[in-house]
Amino acid sequence: MMRTNIPGLLLLFFVPYFVNANDNLPGFTKRNNPAIEVRVQQLLKKMTLEEKIGQMTQINIDVIGKGDNIYSSYLPFQFDEKMVELILGKYKVGSILNTAAVTAMTRADWERIIIHLQKKAIATTGIPLIYGVDEIHGATYTQDATLMPQSVNMGATFNRDLVYESAKVCAYETKASNVPWNFSPVLDLGRDPRWPRQWETYGEDAYLVGEMGKQMILGYQGNSKMIGKDQVAACLKHYLGYGVPYSGKDRTPAIISEQELREKHFAPFAESIRAGALTVMVNSGLINGYPVHANKKLITGWLKNGLNWDGVVVTDWADINNIWQRDKIVADQKEAILLAINAGIDMAMVPYDCSYCDLLLELVKEGKVSMQRIDDAVARILRLKLRLNLFDRPYWPASDYPDFGSAAFTGTSYAAAAESITLLKNSNGILPLRKNARILVTGPNANSMRVLNGGWSYSWQGNKVDSLMPQGVTILKAMQSKFGKEHISYEPGVTYNMEGKYWEENKPDIEAVVKAAASVDYIVLCIGENSYAETPGNLDDLHLSTNQQELARALASTGKPLILVLNEGRPRIISGIEPLATAIVQTYLPGSQGGLALADILSGEVNPSGKLPYTYPKHPNSLTTYDHKPSESVDRMPGVYDYDAVLSVQWAFGYGLSYTSFNYSNLVISKPVFGANDILRVSVDVMNTGSHAGKEAVLLFINDQVASLTPDVRRLRRFDKISLAPGEKKTVSFTIPARDLAFINQQNRPVIEKGDFTIQVGTLASTIKCKETLEFKP
Ligand code: BGC
Repeated sequence: MMRTNIPGLLLLFFVPYFVNANDNLPGFTKRNNPAIEVRVQQLLKKMTLEEKIGQMTQINIDVIGKGDNIYSSYLPFQFDEKMVELILGKYKVGSILNTAAVTAMTRADWERIIIHLQKKAIATTGIPLIYGVDEIHGATYTQDATLMPQSVNMGATFNRDLVYESAKVCAYETKASNVPWNFSPVLDLGRDPRWPRQWETYGEDAYLVGEMGKQMILGYQGNSKMIGKDQVAACLKHYLGYGVPYSGKDRTPAIISEQELREKHFAPFAESIRAGALTVMVNSGLINGYPVHANKKLITGWLKNGLNWDGVVVTDWADINNIWQRDKIVADQKEAILLAINAGIDMAMVPYDCSYCDLLLELVKEGKVSMQRIDDAVARILRLKLRLNLFDRPYWPASDYPDFGSAAFTGTSYAAAAESITLLKNSNGILPLRKNARILVTGPNANSMRVLNGGWSYSWQGNKVDSLMPQGVTILKAMQSKFGKEHISYEPGVTYNMEGKYWEENKPDIEAVVKAAASVDYIVLCIGENSYAETPGNLDDLHLSTNQQELARALASTGKPLILVLNEGRPRIISGIEPLATAIVQTYLPGSQGGLALADILSGEVNPSGKLPYTYPKHPNSLTTYDHKPSESVDRMPGVYDYDAVLSVQWAFGYGLSYTSFNYSNLVISKPVFGANDILRVSVDVMNTGSHAGKEAVLLFINDQVASLTPDVRRLRRFDKISLAPGEKKTVSFTIPARDLAFINQQNRPVIEKGDFTIQVGTLASTIKCKETLEFKP
């Protein structure tokens, strides 16, 4: 008997769609501006070596603030003028980063701080400084800013327009806070659910990440030579391969083949650089045993020369020190600086002292770092400052930004949350919930804004959201207003220890919840994770916490329909309780409007249309991605001994249900036989065959059936999102240059090889033939 082909079955669950991925883009920008280049050269001629090194230095704001030490600031932030004199006066530092005490400040504070710093910088060198902050889902470090869903949600929308709009809002509110440089977007691939930064990514697939990255660049920076008043410079991070540490823990080593690095990890960066991205931040970790911060081939070779790119490369936090202190590649700080600067680093996020400036000065005087390298780095930084128009306008009055926190911006956040929430199970069509039903809302994620927003939300770890967003609408409050307070009861059962580590829970009271369940028609159990960011979010067990699983089991035993609402930064394993649930809804980290969007979905006012941007695992030892190799799922060979591999996942990449149904038909491919330089046109008809209006993400996958380097079983090559009224049919069309089907071969070159390719959209598939083999220019 043949073993069932699980991936094949999973394909059947996809609702297919189509879109012409590039047609709606504003297009690439050539930002070359001869007037700026002349100005850069004039400035370089006048600058001293010390001034140049100052430009290559970035210091954390706490260093220049009053606080217990250089690592902390009191709030509201006050300058320590002696330190300002040291950092900006003596060392002439050209960039400051971060918010004080990693907590959101008011716009008035931001304005006061930046004006003071700019006046000091300009009085010292005549060159404005550039301030950089992580505003990763809205202006995260400004009080009252509009918090969008996190990137994992944006990936789940499969909607480029929403990503573009949310980036525009974020840029506006960031600039309204006087910050011109945003350390965003994250273009790492979220391929490992153990990694605590998976939710900062757009998902596991390189094409999806690249497409969303491009929209972020256009939303942040616009499309012209100069960065406008309402725009900011983007920073692609973390270059390269940060998302797949083999331990699953943050900032630990990765082993990645050169082909995989180029074909998957590099691709989204290259796309976004071509879209005009101005800066890049480097991966803190090691790839194949070598720190990326010291890797000249990746930084100068692939990124700067390979893409003919004139932007700025900044380190991540303290990462030049990590080359010697942590990674032991060299014995001291000076050698680490030598390696990093010669590898192509332009600016060091130091971030606490200026010994880097002294040592870099020595290295130049000793001839170990050339003046040419220094001038190249400084030219890049000056070019960035000129493109941002900082020389003419080093700060921006708050009154120029009347739309900060507007209802329209909140509307964008709501729209993105509503399109990201993903319906994973809906047995017997139990959702939407009946009107006037009695509902028990329970679980640790039911009544907190912190859990909806996640990390990097008004504070680094997200722990200050509840106090800084007192009017926030939690899931509980949203359910009360949607279904009527009198129909909702609340008993949390399990609560997080909000003062402790993110995974700590208080003593549960499961009995109280079971008692409360006796008088209701439905149980809405909100489970998942508390907020965390970066290394503090490391974990040892991917299962959902024991308390939460026990709560689910106890509630299931009441016999009442159990609806699980997942609210989590990464897919925690729930295979033990999934069969007990009648319905399951994934909210990921849906941001400030997530409670309202969820209540609208549960009530049926909004039809869910999100799809998983990653593979949801079922077992901790069976972590995989949809674009795996064939050997991960092998059918038993008839007559041969029992040698097979079974892929067992909870839900596949791209999976997500709707309250309506869609039918795919009429898959048409322009060329059944094609050449390597041809352009394929693919179209498919999608019809809403149900009774609700709905949106459908149409995903087009391609399988290269045989290749000289084992092909992935499938690759997402195009997607689009469409809206369909009941009974409506639309044709979705995609344009695919054959070159986009190339892979990186053993010689590290992009190649398309003669042979068969399967094109699959939803339940439809067709095979076409490439008639020739061709290597393309990288
Ligand atoms: C993170 C970066 C961030 C930087 C500055 C680092 O710890 O890895 O993503 O941009 O801090 O805040």
